[in-house]
Amino acid sequence: MSFDYKDQVVVITGGTRGIGRGLTEAFLKAGATVYATYARNDDAANAFKESQAAYGDQLKLAKFDVTNSAGIQSFFTKLESEANRLDVLINNSGIRKDNMLAMMPDEEWQNVLDTNLGGTFLMSKYAVPLMMKNRYGRIINMSSIGGRLGLPGQANYAASKAGQEAISKVLSKELGKRGITVNNILPGFIETELIADLPEEQVKEYKKQVPLKRFGKIEEVASAVLFLASKDASYITGASLEITGGL
Ligand code: NDP
Repeated sequence: MSFDYKDQVVVITGGTRGIGRGLTEAFLKAGATVYATYARNDDAANAFKESQAAYGDQLKLAKFDVTNSAGIQSFFTKLESEANRLDVLINNSGIRKDNMLAMMPDEEWQNVLDTNLGGTFLMSKYAVPLMMKNRYGRIINMSSIGGRLGLPGQANYAASKAGQEAISKVLSKELGKRGITVNNILPGFIETELIADLPEEQVKEYKKQVPLKRFGKIEEVASAVLFLASKDASYITGASLEITGGL
């Protein structure tokens, strides 16, 4: 399936690495102007920008932390003055800090909640007024099947991801009459750096549990997101799509 995003402006948090990088590539290819944001890893961001040089000004990088309200507000002020529109927001940035609950340092709980759930709240809050201007928008929250599975060691991560699903539901009801849809993606195991620390034995075990017997590829998430963010997905809102290989 091919989609036309020419003249559309897309913001992807965590858009320079992992799944977000794959999303940025897919939207660029489909003609969008993409603001790919990141927090810290300048080397990865700059290398990515270089690799996409053929797209010139279609790709813009923005560095700020999604837990920082002031940084987010200045990003949206700049976006408004440069593009004066926002068609698609993908709340994709996220972190994992696994630990059994009784051993989990308070700051690991807070940090994961602030980044995954708080970031989704803050980004959406400041994106919505810009979308309302055109009475059109697509918000996609990159949650996780982990929010439903509740795997051991993931109290913080699972709570943040279940929270993203809840925010999507609420926001879909608040924004429906404004022409803005809000949906949620629930990936299973996708091959990125986020899960590169899993021990080999555990990877084997998880792969056995996946009915398709393998982990997913970034492009397999990107193709679904491209559809959900398109004008063709006009009657889908408040939905969650599992991309898990059947997990
Ligand atoms: P990666 O670790 O590969 O990339 C994470 C991205 O998020 C990076 O670009 C990083 O920026 C950015 N980021 C992290 N913290 C912040 C912050 N505080 N502010 C702004 N940006 C930040 O992760 P994945 O691509 O694997 O995951 C993307 C999303 O998909 C996450 O929400 C994750 O929970 C979800 N997901 C992933 C699965 C998987 O198996 N990979 C499974 C299910 C869900 P920087 O480069 O500067 O560090």
